[in-house]
Amino acid sequence: MKRTVSIPVELPSERFFPLMNQCAEIFNAHVDWSIANSTYNKNKAHKELYHLLRVQFPSVPSALLQTVRDNALEAIKATKFKSIPKKKPTSGLRYDKRTMTLRGKQLTLSCIGKRVTLILDVPEYFREVFETWDFCGATVTYTKNTKRKVRAEASSELNLSGREKRFMKDTNHCVSKKLSNQPGVAVFVLEDLSSIRTQRRGKKMNKWLGSWAFYQQEQFLSYKAEALGKRVVHQDPRYTSAKCNICKHIRRTNRHKSRFHCKNCGHRTHADLNAAKNIRDDYILYSTQGTEEQASVNMPDVSTDSLGQLQAPSTRGWGG
Ligand SMILES: [Zn+2]
Repeated sequence: MKRTVSIPVELPSERFFPLMNQCAEIFNAHVDWSIANSTYNKNKAHKELYHLLRVQFPSVPSALLQTVRDNALEAIKATKFKSIPKKKPTSGLRYDKRTMTLRGKQLTLSCIGKRVTLILDVPEYFREVFETWDFCGATVTYTKNTKRKVRAEASSELNLSGREKRFMKDTNHCVSKKLSNQPGVAVFVLEDLSSIRTQRRGKKMNKWLGSWAFYQQEQFLSYKAEALGKRVVHQDPRYTSAKCNICKHIRRTNRHKSRFHCKNCGHRTHADLNAAKNIRDDYILYSTQGTEEQASVNMPDVSTDSLGQLQAPSTRGWGG
């Protein structure tokens, strides 16, 4: 998953303008070659064009030439020759790990001659993203504010990877440990995921459910609970979000996003808390009808706050 943040920076236009101009020509040369030869093979393009272009554009750094080559061929590949991507002298210039580095707020970009180093002014709301996400690329674009002034803007793509996954794993360990250690709880009733996915839920919810983070949480809870002699079971969650846990009245409009408001008895609560209680009660009803095991099934005291925290990853754009 990629997130893009835009940070306005002042770049030396006398160096970037000719660079962007020449890179556009290199890009277009690859596009022309690709169409003429009906291929977007990078090795073939390198063999036939690299040395020619190095001679023609000696001041463009070698790594940047290769980045531009890859961008051009990937653009062709994306549409399988259906459209012809062409760059103008002022088109945005893509940077990747070969042509840029980011250490903290210090960004270094490959350019004509010496590399250009600048300190990014990271806005407060991007700080967290900057500290936890891996940086995988940037685009330098020129924005003409007035006829005289040229402003450059660097947008950076941040790739959700190792660090964010480790964070999620730690969170899952922590949550499952707390849950499994709940005193007085012998059975954990979870929604049967296989049936949830076929139901109509929000796109965002489906992505979250389909994500490995959710699956991982189940795995962690299962082995931790079983180690303590407890059980994890699954329950069909049908109607559990529309049913009032107090009066059992089922109506789809009882639920509105995170709010649950029963049209029959007026009961109000967090929609997830209402659904969780229904899942517990359904399990008790269907699995232990007429037995005394019922008494051993309890539900941990899940507050709406902790539900909110559990869902936090989806609001952070998980799975997208
Ligand atoms: Zn009700």
